[in-house]
Amino acid sequence: MLKIITIPNPILRQKAKKIADVMDPKIQKLIPQMTEIMLKEGVGLAAPQVGESIRLIIVKYKDGSVAMINPRILKKSILKEWGEEGCLSVPGKYGEVKRSKKLTIRYTDEKGKAKTLNAQGMLARIIQHETDHLDGVLFIDKARKIVELNPNE
Ligand SMILES: [Zn+2]
Repeated sequence: MLKIITIPNPILRQKAKKIADVMDPKIQKLIPQMTEIMLKEGVGLAAPQVGESIRLIIVKYKDGSVAMINPRILKKSILKEWGEEGCLSVPGKYGEVKRSKKLTIRYTDEKGKAKTLNAQGMLARIIQHETDHLDGVLFIDKARKIVELNPNE
């Protein structure tokens, strides 16, 4: 069973490694496991959040999810917007982050196929949040108006 790690775990601050072999059984096992957690707990999940410093993210997409291996943002719109974010690895904190409204991302899917996706709005925001995780960047590094909610209150 995978466990979500939280700050200040140093894995969250590492630059994640590129995945050389998508068909590696470890990767093939990790994708459905991460997808399950993501669908239950949030809208996106990056491998470092489950303690694996590798370039893999899962994002909510339409009615399901998409796994992106070695994702690379090719283009980001200059036009940005502020929006509220939170993170499973930063429990209880929320804040507004300025993100590009649109982007184009290139990635390898779970079958090893190269894909390109144009995203906007919420999907573009999730992708930027999750790809930041792969570079050790957390939303609290960029956020304004951070609020802390005590779950016991
Ligand atoms: Zn996050």
